[in-house]
Amino acid sequence: MKMVIDGQQVDSSNGKVIEIRNPATGELLDTVPDATIEDVDRAIAAANRAQKEWAKLLPIERANMLYKVVEIARREIDDIAVLLSKECGKPLREAQFEANEFPDLLQEYIEKYKHLEGRVIENGFEAGQDGNLFVTVRMPYGVSVCLVPFNYPVELMAQKISSTLLAGNTAIVKISPYNPLSCIRLVNMFKEAGVPDGVLQIITGGVEVGERLTHSDQIHMINFTGSTATGTKIYEAAAKNLTKVSLELGGNDAFILCEDGDIDLAVEEVVAGRILCSGQVCIATKRLLIQNSVKEEFTNKLIERFKKIKQGDPLDDNNDMGCMINEAAAEKVQKQVELCVAQGAKIALGGTHEGAFYRPTVLVDCTRDMDVMKDMEIFGPVASIMGFDTVDEAIDIANQSSLGLGGCVFTSNMKTALKVCREVITGSMNINASSLLRSHEMPFGGAKKSGLGREGVCVSFDEVTQEKTIVFRNLHLM
Ligand code: NAD
Repeated sequence: MKMVIDGQQVDSSNGKVIEIRNPATGELLDTVPDATIEDVDRAIAAANRAQKEWAKLLPIERANMLYKVVEIARREIDDIAVLLSKECGKPLREAQFEANEFPDLLQEYIEKYKHLEGRVIENGFEAGQDGNLFVTVRMPYGVSVCLVPFNYPVELMAQKISSTLLAGNTAIVKISPYNPLSCIRLVNMFKEAGVPDGVLQIITGGVEVGERLTHSDQIHMINFTGSTATGTKIYEAAAKNLTKVSLELGGNDAFILCEDGDIDLAVEEVVAGRILCSGQVCIATKRLLIQNSVKEEFTNKLIERFKKIKQGDPLDDNNDMGCMINEAAAEKVQKQVELCVAQGAKIALGGTHEGAFYRPTVLVDCTRDMDVMKDMEIFGPVASIMGFDTVDEAIDIANQSSLGLGGCVFTSNMKTALKVCREVITGSMNINASSLLRSHEMPFGGAKKSGLGREGVCVSFDEVTQEKTIVFRNLHLM
């Protein structure tokens, strides 16, 4: 496949390509261009040219064009799901769910956009302002770079480009070099729907492509989802030009099971919250804090449940779990597990991998001084368990991480639940379910080093636009 720059499907200016392989089988799926700096600069120029006309269209004209994309996407979604499963290694049913998120999210953003309202601040509410009526309108920033991670490329691209484009910005998507194929197919649908050249472009390539985009003073907003390490570099680059940023970053979510919580439910929620996408989820349940009085029972049940998980060919519906994005990712998890063991943890199950297939793993005897209980995000199917005695202690351990994306608490006492939800510093908390939930409507995002800003149908238009005040003056003289 090729990149999309200024409405054309193009190769890299130096002809270099990146091979895209199925991580489960090693099969070569396709190649994509390895973009050069020259390619990036061409896309930035095209996005700036296109933005002026795009912003002048009526909101309903932009909305109607994107409705056509929804229709086209729905027709092709089954094919996209198979491609997504192959390029990510995630089970087909997970890929089907994610692929359907694309038209669903786009449609919901369009519906919301058609009902956005501005503000009117009447004259006379403030002394001396009796002749001034204030009306606010939302302006696009201009050209937005949308940087997407490998774990949910289709869903996260939809989250970013829907609001960005509807609000009158143009967008350059920089996709992960591991699995860009489904997103390229989706971007091509925008041309088919009549969206003008340069309004939505997609570039494939490595870190230098992302750096060129985020350092440019011709970019007016950076909308990033990815790791905290990369997000920090992007924030530094953005500061140079005072570019607006929205950062959705990594997490190390605490899962707190109190002794009065439902243990069987908690076990099932860990399976759902740690095994989906082979554990490569920002809001996966990563640090399992279990009250000591129920720790043994919970751990035994979790191990028995993890043993039953079928791992194998992602396209085979009998399997519960596929593989990670590549063997290097599994190797990285292996090293992190080894570090946990060196710091005192024991492997109660798993702890090995074959190629990109990392086995469901349970680590026990974790203690609060270990990296895994602080900032080390294990992006793989590893459940790290440690005990606690009091709820205050669990809250304290949860808060010792500099990350604060999500979290959860299992208890039958609503007073305890609310205390934990209020005192654990995160962007969201769940009661009696794992933190792994991202509804379209909820304001999604992190506290502390898990991000800046919120994403979701109810909040994204505030992120991708800036409020401008128009003042009707001297009304008292008329
Ligand atoms: P990553 O930070 O390595 O890469 C994300 C994107 O940024 C990719 O497209 C990559 O090519 C690009 N990139 C890398 N270095 C760059 C640089 N210096 N300048 C500009 N762009 C650069 O993340 P990943 O490994 O693809 O994804 C996993 C991480 O993303 C995890 O930490 C996970 O928690 C996080 N994540 C967060 C959310 C959220 O909503 N908070 C959602 C999904 C994933």
